[in-house]
Amino acid sequence: MAYSYEAPVSQTLFDRASLVTPGGVNSPVRAFRAVGGTPRFMVSGTGPYLTDADGREYVDLVCSWGPMILGHAHPEVVAAVQDAVARGTSFGTPGEGEVALAEEIVARIEPVEQVRLVSSGTEATMSAIRLARGFTGRAKVVKFAGCYHGHVDALLAAAGSGVATFGLPDTPGVTGAQAGDTIVLPYNDLEAVRAAFAAQPGEIACVITEASPGNMGVVPPQDGFNAGLKEICAAEGALYISDEVMTGFRTSKAGWYGIDGVRPDLMTFGKVMGGGFPAAAFGGRADVMGHLAPAGPVYQAGTLSGNPVATAAGLAQLRLLDDAAYAKVDAVSAELRSLVGEAFGKAGVAHTVSAASNMFSVFFTEEPVRNYEDAKKQEAFRFTAFFHSMLEQGVYLPPSAFESWFVSTAHDARALERIAAALPAAARAASEATS
Ligand code: PLP
Repeated sequence: MAYSYEAPVSQTLFDRASLVTPGGVNSPVRAFRAVGGTPRFMVSGTGPYLTDADGREYVDLVCSWGPMILGHAHPEVVAAVQDAVARGTSFGTPGEGEVALAEEIVARIEPVEQVRLVSSGTEATMSAIRLARGFTGRAKVVKFAGCYHGHVDALLAAAGSGVATFGLPDTPGVTGAQAGDTIVLPYNDLEAVRAAFAAQPGEIACVITEASPGNMGVVPPQDGFNAGLKEICAAEGALYISDEVMTGFRTSKAGWYGIDGVRPDLMTFGKVMGGGFPAAAFGGRADVMGHLAPAGPVYQAGTLSGNPVATAAGLAQLRLLDDAAYAKVDAVSAELRSLVGEAFGKAGVAHTVSAASNMFSVFFTEEPVRNYEDAKKQEAFRFTAFFHSMLEQGVYLPPSAFESWFVSTAHDARALERIAAALPAAARAASEATS
């Protein structure tokens, strides 16, 4: 596909980056492989806008993949960071900031009685799984196809659908042994979960699920799914782990737990709680968390865990996220969803705008999407044309049809107008796309 616009400085940077970094990026989806073209190298962000190295401004609908729920460079978050930086960037000792952040998390999310801070969502899920195995003395882990929990070896298995499929590694470098205790099941299918437990009695340590998935596009849990998982886990002596790295502190003040009220044994967090810095966490039942070193025998550690600058940023962001802030993000999301639906409707494009609270994505199909198999049936090629038209018109979308779009409190009327102005041509491009 040829693009009618250019990004010469980004292209030069990408060429330089490709010489010294595999694929030119430090996280694969940034490379635009799914949509083609030159990834934009951003130099600054303010509110709902990003500016690239060629000096072009975009309305940002990625928000750093979720964290920037107050928009970019929020003055109070920046001030908290500047204040923390001036006092030193890392001590390798405990500090008050990490206590305050942990207290904020515990206060917001009732099932979290104790929490351990880490530096990435991957570390959070990896550690939660280790803890679940250590606590239960069992090896096997159930996950769902299409759910992403970071690049943890045991969780990089999404082999096939069907009932109780044993995990096959889906990347070289993950051995059969590392993925062999992972059972991958179709999402939103409680019968498959029951069958897996029946086939392996007493062997499953935990079920891990995205609280509401956003990594196969947005595919919310059907009514009763999370409650059913919890019930099955409780009956079988396994732990129910709700991965709220994406939904946590975004979908409501108490994340997805604040919406469905299903009480997990363990939860994982990241993104919003770091205010744009590497801070993440896992937490839950005190009796389970008490198994972690140094209180208990399950080892887990981190040189930069609870870093004072990251915790200051996260705490400042969380303290600004009151009911009014969530009402604003929800309203922006609702308006945007209606603009998007209207544009595709007018262009005659078969689509579904799929939402979970203020997270949403577009599937290019009108068939119901309940799991990853359904999501893959969409006409994803239409997204490529749509994406590039939006990009050309100054709207930065996630460069994949299988990712959530994210908005912030900073997306104001002007930003929405710019998106509204770009949508008709982009929807037409989607309708005209052939492959
Ligand atoms: N869990 C979920 C649900 C995620 O969406 C992600 C990242 O997108 C992760 C875990 C991994 O987090 P990180 O990229 O911080 O390692």
